[in-house]
Formats: sequence, C-alpha cells, structure tokens
Amino acid sequence: MKIAVLAGDGIGPEIIAQALKVLRVLADDGLKIELEEAPFGGAGYDAEGDPLPARTLALAKAADAVLCGAVGGPKYDALPRPQRPEQGILRIRKELGLFANLRPAVLYPELVGASSLKPEVVSGLDIMILRELTGDIYFGEPRGRGENASGEREGYDTMRYSESEIRRIVEIGFQTAKKRSNKLCSVDKENVLETSRFWREIVVDVARKYPDVALTHMYVDNAAMQLVRNPRQFDVIVTGNMFGDILSDEASMLTGSIGMLPSASLDANGKGLYEPIHGSAPDIAGKNVANPLATILSSAMMLRYTFNKDEWAYRIEAAVKKVLAEGCRTADIFEDGTRKMGTAEMGDAVVAAL
Ligand code: NAD
Repeated sequence: MKIAVLAGDGIGPEIIAQALKVLRVLADDGLKIELEEAPFGGAGYDAEGDPLPARTLALAKAADAVLCGAVGGPKYDALPRPQRPEQGILRIRKELGLFANLRPAVLYPELVGASSLKPEVVSGLDIMILRELTGDIYFGEPRGRGENASGEREGYDTMRYSESEIRRIVEIGFQTAKKRSNKLCSVDKENVLETSRFWREIVVDVARKYPDVALTHMYVDNAAMQLVRNPRQFDVIVTGNMFGDILSDEASMLTGSIGMLPSASLDANGKGLYEPIHGSAPDIAGKNVANPLATILSSAMMLRYTFNKDEWAYRIEAAVKKVLAEGCRTADIFEDGTRKMGTAEMGDAVVAAL
C-alpha cells in the first residue's frame, strides 16, 4: 500500500509527523505500507514555484492514497491566484477525480463540554456527511455576469447534475451506510428545484439495490434545523456539493473541536485523499501546540476506506479514545482537571496507547 505524504504548510509538518509515528507503529506490527513525502502548497511553491509541483502530482497519482496536512499561510497571500497554496488542493482533487467527500462528526464523551449544544442533545453524536465534490452549482455552466431584459446588472450560476454524477455519489452513500448502521438520509430541495427532483428519482432507483438500508429524504432547510435540534437522528447523510458544503461545516461545529475531525475525498475506485478538516493554523505553527488527532484519525479513515483494513483503523480510533479517556489534551481541547500537552507529546501518547 503506497501512501503519498504531503505535509504542506503551517502546522502541517507537525501534525503529519504524529500521524507518521502512528503509521510506523502499525508497520512494525505487520501493516504493509510504503510512505513517500513530497512538497505541496506553499512548500511546493517554495521548492519549485508551483503549489502542486509535477513530481508531487506524479507521486499522488502513482500512490494508492494521499495523506495531507494543510496548506496556506500569510506568506503566500499576495501571490497571483494560480500560485496560491489553496489552488494546489483544488487541482489535486480535480486531477485525482475525487468526487466524494466524507466528513464524520463524532463527539467523544470526554469532549462533550466543547460542543455549543447541550450534552443531552449531542452526547454520543456519530454522523457521517457525504458531500458530492465536483459538480453542482459550483461548477455548472453557464455562469457569469450580464444584464437582464430590463437593463439591470445581474449575476448567475447554474445548478446542474448529470445522472452518472448522482449515481456514483449515491452508491457511495449506500455503501457507507452498509459499513455503519444501514441508515441513509438523502438531503435535497425537491419541493423547489428541478435538479433536486431528478436527484431524488435517482436515489430511489439506486435504493432498489440496497433493500437492507433504510432510506429517508429530507429538505435541506429542515436538515439544517434538525442538525441542531436533534442531530443524533442521523447516521449517514448524502447530498450535493452546495448543500453538503454548508451542512458539513454545521455538523463539524456540533463537536466543538476543529482539531479532532478528519475527512476523506474519494474517487470511483476507492483511492482517496485524507486530511484534517482544519487549515494550516499559521497563528500556532511551529509552537508544538496544534492538535494532531484530526490528522491521526484521517490516517485511520485511509486504512478503512481505501485499504479496507477496518481492524487497523479501529486500533487507531481506540488508541485516540484511550488517550482522551486518560485526560490527555492539547491546548484547544484543554479543560480543568485534564493534562495539557504539546503536539509531539500527544502523538507519543497515541503511540503508547497503541
Ligand atoms: P484554520 O483552520 O487554519 O484555523 C482556524 C482556527 O483554528 C485558528 O485559531 C487555529 O489556530 C485553530 N486550529 C486549526 N487547526 C488546529 C489544530 N489542529 N489544533 C489546534 N487549533 C487549531 O483556518 P484559517 O485560519 O481560516 O486559515 C489558515 C490558512 O489555512 C489559510 O491560508 C487558509 O487558506 C488555509 N486553509 C487550508 C485548508 C486545507 O489545507 N485544506 C483548509 C482551510 C483553510
């Protein structure tokens, strides 16, 4: 199993170093992995004048999975758009055909105080939001600016989904539901949008192949409300690019801790790019205070979703739960009565728990 490791910028190298420690322990225990690092984002620009240098892209294409830290930083903010670190992320997603974005929102019992919701509403939360990543109104044509019939200036975008685009993301939705508790909620705006009516038709058609999965549909406005009213009613949510963009950020905040949440972006064959949901946190870079758990949990997702090594993924997740139960905390999740530690020490604690 070949893994391309792209640490990136800011806290990227610090948090990736902790995930690599964890993967190396598993390798010593018999997990057959090969790790190769390459510059990406601002680091790619510094090394080769390009946020996604040709050799980095070649490595990512040749690998079975890509593990990313984060990219970006004030040093690069004044660069022309094509050289900006964030363009590296958009380009690699496109080059690798990563159309399915999986974002779990899990609330660990020890961190229940970090959520903005009451413990009785949110404790035990464990949901998965599956967002389509390469279609919808963000990419639909025509788009632009112009003048309407009465000569007034206007802007417009086009919401558009092809049948194959819907089918492939919905298939992943059902397969993900089967790996969890056989519940899938498809979110749309079928009462208003033609694209959503079509989306729902395809979802119902794909559902015939998965009689064991309990399928429900929900309008996006209701889903936004239900996520803060009673989030535990959900297990897997599948939705389009724009609705998923908004709902996945909302869901991640239910857990209150940006440093804890991993993500996966998958292609049609299960190849994936795995990264924490947070950015490069330039305000704390190089200080050994960043929380590495989102990155460590991203490596667990990689073992589960690309390599189908559920038992190894589970070992990492169990080790993370154990260190939290023992009271280990980085500054972002610290509370009185727990033990504050740095990035490297948290990585060591997970290694020890493994
Ligand atoms: P951010 O996620 O980097 O930081 C937001 C806040 O959360 C900061 O206060 C930061 O210190 C804190 N934080 C983030 N990760 C943390 C961690 N692991 N442990 C503890 N605290 C953590 O978002 P931002 O400040 O808006 O963006 C900073 C840079 O990151 C920008 O250049 C942005 O473009 C980039 N960015 C990159 C990605 C990516 O690589 N996929 C995603 C989002 C933002």
